[in-house]
Amino acid sequence: MPTFDVLVIGSGASGLAAAVSAERAGARVALATKGALQSCNSAKAQGGIQAAFGDDDSPEQHAADVWKSSHETANMELVEILTAEAPSAIHWLEELGVEFTRENGGYRLARCGGASRKRLLQVGDRTGHAITKALREAVESSTITTFPNAPLHALEPRWRARCGDHELEAETVVLAAGGRCFREAEERGELSTNHPGATGEVTQIALELGAQARDLDALQYHPNGGAWPPNMQGYSIPETTRAYGAVLLNADGEEFTDSLGPRDVVSQAIVDEVAKGKGVETPDGRPAVYLDTTRISAHDAELSLPYMLRRYRAGGIDPLGERILTYPVLHYQNGGLVIDADAQTTVESLYACGEIAGGTHGRNRMMGNSLLECVVFGRRAGRAAARN
Ligand SMILES: Cc1cc2nc3c(=O)[nH]c(=O)nc-3n(C[C@H](O)[C@H](O)[C@H](O)COP(=O)(O)OP(=O)(O)OC[C@H]3O[C@@H](n4cnc5c(N)ncnc54)[C@H](O)[C@@H]3O)c2cc1C
Repeated sequence: MPTFDVLVIGSGASGLAAAVSAERAGARVALATKGALQSCNSAKAQGGIQAAFGDDDSPEQHAADVWKSSHETANMELVEILTAEAPSAIHWLEELGVEFTRENGGYRLARCGGASRKRLLQVGDRTGHAITKALREAVESSTITTFPNAPLHALEPRWRARCGDHELEAETVVLAAGGRCFREAEERGELSTNHPGATGEVTQIALELGAQARDLDALQYHPNGGAWPPNMQGYSIPETTRAYGAVLLNADGEEFTDSLGPRDVVSQAIVDEVAKGKGVETPDGRPAVYLDTTRISAHDAELSLPYMLRRYRAGGIDPLGERILTYPVLHYQNGGLVIDADAQTTVESLYACGEIAGGTHGRNRMMGNSLLECVVFGRRAGRAAARN
């Protein structure tokens, strides 16, 4: 039976970051994932990643914004690590080859929902794609053994894993298998932004091993799911549209909420507006409101929203020429497995990082902090698992 020091489950940003970090710390590492190495939610992330680089900003301010957006439910020990290590996480990604969009000699920073400062770094509007590509290339040029198409089915303590057709042994295991919003949306008969692998069975395996979880009931709706045309249904319209000037309007063309409020507040405001009869209907009868994207300048759109523009224009709609239709869509699992500062779960030598873990965002995540969490806690999990 192949034996490793560290077995990582999942090939999203958190699993890739953990695997690279564990290998660089000297461990023999295996990475097993459900589908292709490329298949994950991380690669779909468009908007960006937060880090306090602005002259008027600081990790403390970043942490205060997380605390407020979480409605004071986040684990502040984890939040302080997240925000303090954000700048070094960005530099680490740059060393791996990620090129963040720059202007005026610095990073191009946007303000995202719930943030008091401009803090969102972007790679155009394909930030997650750029980050996972760089991390995957680091994995592929390392000694890490990868097992694609090898979903974790069973895990026995200290540690023997059945991953697809493979039986693997390892001293420590890092769970980085993401959230469950694809399955949850299917069960609710709703749309989701998630990839089909986001089904949550690894969380279940961890719970059966005795790991504790928190806030598992707190699922996040992205305020701006695409509602029309059909090719954009379930697409998450980047929050950067609103950072660059788009606003939400009701059927009468009135602004009914702060378009850059925390996600849960904005989503609820849209649902309430539609319930009041002030929404609009898509041609196929779905509820919606307007997102007035015509207020975005062509310059900002070309630099920060090129992929979104291409997708809409392919569907016959030009967001710079007309308002688009939007409605909240199931997006993110806020809660997850309880972890400590090393990303260890409450079960010894079992680690968790990324969307599968809970605490960093409390019950309501801010945009741009998930990719950051993947890198910060993926690195911590990988290093600690290699040491264990
Ligand atoms: C459309 C979209 C846009 C987003 N935009 C942003 C953004 O702009 N900024 C931001 O910070 N966040 C964003 N997010 C959220 C963020 O991308 C994700 O929460 C984060 O990347 C999750 O990373 P992860 O590594 O935890 O999980 P994932 O990237 O989902 O990876 C999980 C991996 O585990 C594998 N897996 C699942 N089950 C098993 C199993 N049983 N056995 C083995 N492997 C398994 C999957 O195949 C996958 O490879 C966005 C999410 C989506 C869906």
